[in-house]
Amino acid sequence: MSDVRVTSAEFVKGIRGTNGILFNRMAQIAFIGRSNVGKSSVINALVGRKRLVKESSQPGKTTEINFFLINNNRYFVDLPGYGFAKLPEKKREGLRRMILWYLGELEIENRTVVLIIDAYVGPSEFDEEVLLLLERRGITTIIIANKFDKIKKSKERERKQALSEALSGRSYIPFSARTGEGKEELLSLIL
Ligand code: GDP
Repeated sequence: MSDVRVTSAEFVKGIRGTNGILFNRMAQIAFIGRSNVGKSSVINALVGRKRLVKESSQPGKTTEINFFLINNNRYFVDLPGYGFAKLPEKKREGLRRMILWYLGELEIENRTVVLIIDAYVGPSEFDEEVLLLLERRGITTIIIANKFDKIKKSKERERKQALSEALSGRSYIPFSARTGEGKEELLSLIL
């Protein structure tokens, strides 16, 4: 595979509502997933920096949509993790609405969404809702199943089959932020 990698990455800004950065025609690669699925770890693994996105000791803490400029030619967009049980209901609903606004209402020319699911747990109800929304809108979506390192070698085939079924046959990339599995493949799709 050709050498696709991140040569520069910097935080640009966090937003909570409409903002010029959304519409400046730069490509956006948006990362979404349930809180604690390893979203920060995945982005850090992709950019090769341990703490570009802070791994949340307090999951669900991030309540903004964070923009990172990558290779001076695209943004990685880190959406808030959803479904964090310890957040008050009102806050959770607010985050849910912000995610659905970004994915469902904005017209952004060049946008790819990376949906992160847990390889061990499979997709949540909200993951399914998000997938249907993205498909309805024709937004390019890549599903990755993170924490694949937690699956025993002997269970791998079985688990892959189960994930495939849970995703109604949609394809996905087995991924591990910890071991780097799937990283090259994902980078080649989003860079
Ligand atoms: P976020 O809340 O989705 O941003 O998740 P974090 O990146 O903070 O990760 C949540 C927890 O999952 C942390 O304890 C991570 O060390 C762990 N984690 C993240 N990615 C992986 C992975 O690929 N494999 C394993 N085994 N653990 C992971």
